[in-house]
Amino acid sequence: MSVKLSNACQLLIGCKKLHSLQSFPKQRYQKGKKFSEILISNTKLDYLSGCCCFLSSAETMSKGLSEQRKEREREKMEVESGEDKSNCNCINDAKSQRRVGLIYDQRMCKHRTPDGDYHPENPNRITAIWNKLKLAGIPQRCVLLNAKEAEDKYICAVHSKNHVNLIRNISSKQYDSKRNRIASKLNSIYLNEGSSESAYLAAGSVIEVSEKVAKGELDSAFTIVRPPGHHAEYDEAMGFCLFNNVAIAGSFLLDQRPELGIKKILIVDWDVHHGNGTQKTFWKDPRVLFFSVHRHEFGSFYPANDDGFYTMVGEGPGAGYNINVPWENGRCGDADYLAVWDHILIPVAKEFNPDIIIISAGFDAAVGDPLGGCQVTPDGYAVLLKKLMNFAQGRIVLALEGGYNLDSIANSALACMEVLLEDKPVSILSEAYPFESTWRVIQAVRQKLSAFWPTLADELPTKLTNKKAPPHILLSSSESDDEDDEASKIISEDLVEAVEDVVEPLLKLKIEDNHDQATSAQWRSGLSKTDIWYATFGSNMWKSRFLCYIEGGQVKSMKKPCSGSMDRNPPKETLWKTFPHRLFFGRDFSQTWGPGGVAFLHPRSNGQDKTFMCLYRITLEQFNDVLLQENVPDHDMNSPLFDLNALDSIPNEGSFSVEAVKRGWYHNVVYLGKENDIPILTMTCSLSVIERFKLGEIPLHAPSKEYADTLARGLVEGKQLSEEEATAYIQEATAKPL
Ligand SMILES: [Zn+2]
Repeated sequence: MSVKLSNACQLLIGCKKLHSLQSFPKQRYQKGKKFSEILISNTKLDYLSGCCCFLSSAETMSKGLSEQRKEREREKMEVESGEDKSNCNCINDAKSQRRVGLIYDQRMCKHRTPDGDYHPENPNRITAIWNKLKLAGIPQRCVLLNAKEAEDKYICAVHSKNHVNLIRNISSKQYDSKRNRIASKLNSIYLNEGSSESAYLAAGSVIEVSEKVAKGELDSAFTIVRPPGHHAEYDEAMGFCLFNNVAIAGSFLLDQRPELGIKKILIVDWDVHHGNGTQKTFWKDPRVLFFSVHRHEFGSFYPANDDGFYTMVGEGPGAGYNINVPWENGRCGDADYLAVWDHILIPVAKEFNPDIIIISAGFDAAVGDPLGGCQVTPDGYAVLLKKLMNFAQGRIVLALEGGYNLDSIANSALACMEVLLEDKPVSILSEAYPFESTWRVIQAVRQKLSAFWPTLADELPTKLTNKKAPPHILLSSSESDDEDDEASKIISEDLVEAVEDVVEPLLKLKIEDNHDQATSAQWRSGLSKTDIWYATFGSNMWKSRFLCYIEGGQVKSMKKPCSGSMDRNPPKETLWKTFPHRLFFGRDFSQTWGPGGVAFLHPRSNGQDKTFMCLYRITLEQFNDVLLQENVPDHDMNSPLFDLNALDSIPNEGSFSVEAVKRGWYHNVVYLGKENDIPILTMTCSLSVIERFKLGEIPLHAPSKEYADTLARGLVEGKQLSEEEATAYIQEATAKPL
C-alpha cells in the first residue's frame, strides 16, 4: 500500500519542505512585534488604515454583550428542555431568526483509504466537525436536511461522461481488481468501495442546499461534505477531489433552475489551495465570478502550476470574472486575508452584486493545519464570512473542501455556523499586520483586474504598499543592493532575528532531506565520477546565478533561494559556444523570477538560429541536482533523474524526457554534441510544449527587466557581447515569431 499511498499523497508534496517553515515555534505575531512597533513609529497611520478592518469589524458587528448573553441562556434552556434532534430531519426555526440549513451524513465517511492507511483526507474530518457542532447545540437550531445523491445529468454539466461513469462504477465489484491501479495513476487520489456513494452524496448535498437557499426556503446553509471538490476537473479526479461539488451546484442553479432567478453567482474559494477545477468550469462564463485566495508561491504549491496566478482572469465573455489572489509565501493569517477582502473581494462583490454566494470552505488555511501552513483563526473565518453576508441578501452556501487539523476545522466550522445563525459578535483584536508580500499581491491583482472592475483602479495609498522588504527578499545574496535609507536599516536589523526563523529552514533545505541517505549516497557516488557540460542559455549564463544551483542561495531579483546541490564544488571549467537552436521567451511568470517570460530553447536545431550558451563542466551528480531545481524542487531523489544509461543513450536519441519531473518546464534534456569528448547537455521544454506555445495556449512573453538584465550580465561578463549587443540579442529573441 505504501506505493499507492505515496501517489495519493502528492498533494502533501511541497509541504514537506515547508514543514520546516511551519514547525518553527515562534509565530509572526510574536516575532513580528518589534517589526510592527518600529513600523508604527514610522508610518503609523498607514498601518492603521491597513488593519482598520479589525476595528470596523468589531464595531459594526457586535451586539450588546448582555443582550447576547441573555439570548444564549434562553437558547441553552430551550435546548436542554428539548430532545436531541440532531439525528432527525426536522425543521426547527423557532430558536433562530435565520433559517440555516445543515447537512451531515455519515455515509460520506465510507470513502476511505482501501487498506486503512492514514491519510489526511479521512472520515474523521467530518465527524469532528459534526461532533463539535453538536456539543455547541448548533444542529438543534438549524434546518437539518438529508444528503441526496446527485443525478448524473447535473454532474455531467461539469464533468465528462467518462469521468462520471468512472466515479459511478469505481466502487462496484467489477473494479475490485483494478481500483487501486486506477487511483495510482491519478494525482493525489485514493478510491475504495465507498467512494462512489460518498462522491454522489457530496455533490448532491451541495445542490440540495443551494437550491433551498436560492428558493428562499433557507437563508443560508452549511454542508459538511467529503470528498472535497474544487480540484476535480472536467475529466479528472485529483487532489483528494472526485466531483467538483461547488461547480456542479453553481451550474445547476444557473442552467437547471432558471425559474429561481439566480443569474449571478459569486464563488469564494478560501481553501488554502487553488480551486483549479472550479476556475476551469467557469473560465468563459460571466455569470460566475470565481474568486480564489490560495498559496501559490509562483507555482510551487499544490496544484503546482500557473493556473492560480493572478494573470489568469478568465477568457472571452468570462474575462475579468476569475480572480486569483496567489500568496507568495505561507503563514498568511487573518490580517492578510482581511486585507484581501477589504481591498479586492468586497469592492468587486459590490460591483458584481451576486444573487447568491457559494463558498468553497476549505479550512486548511486555518492555524494548525498540517498542509496549509497558514494562520487564519476561527474568528478570522467568522469575519471573512460576516463581510460576505452583506451581499446577495445573505444567501450564502458553505461547502466543506479541505482542512486537515481536526480541531482547527471543527472550531472554524463552528465559528462560521455561529455567524450564519447571527448569534455572535464578530471581531478580531489582533495586532498583526499583513505581510509586505500581501500588499504586493493585492496591488498586482488590482492592477490586473482594474480593466474589468473600475473600483480596483483607485490607487492604494502608496505608503500602504511601499513598505520595506518582506523576510524572504532579505535573503538576497551579496549581490543585492543594500537599502540605504536609515529607516529601512533599522527595520532590517530588527527583522534579522525574525527572519532567521525563515532563512534558516530555507537554507537548510538540502535536496537530501527526508531521503534514504544510503540509497542516495550510492547513486550519487556513482555519478560523481562522470563529468558533463551543462549548457545554459538563460539567466544561468550569469555565473553568480548559476552558482545558486550549486552553492544554494539567490541573487538579486530572484523570488526565492535555491537549495543548491549536495556537492557544492564549483564548476571545473566554463566556456562559451553558440548553437544552431532557437532561443525564445515564454510564460507569464516563473517561480524564480515572478512576472515576465523566461528563456526556452527549441529542442530541434536549425541552420538559421544562433544561440549563445555558457557551458559549465560539472559532475553528472550535480547535473541531477540542477535538473531537479530547474523543475520540481519538491521531488524526492531516491534515484537519479538522469543516470548513466540515459547519458549513454542520449547521443542517439537526441533528447531524454525526465518522467519524474514532467511537471516542470525544463524536463527535456537535450544533447548538443561533445567538447573534449565530454557530452554537452542542456534542459528545455518538450516538443509538445513548443506546439502549445505556437498555438498560443502558453503565451510567448518578453522577459521582465530583471530577468533580461541577469541574462545580459552573463553575456557581458562572459565577454560574448557588449551591453548594447546583449540587449539587442534578447530583443530579437523576444520579437521573432516561433
Ligand atoms: Zn486545500
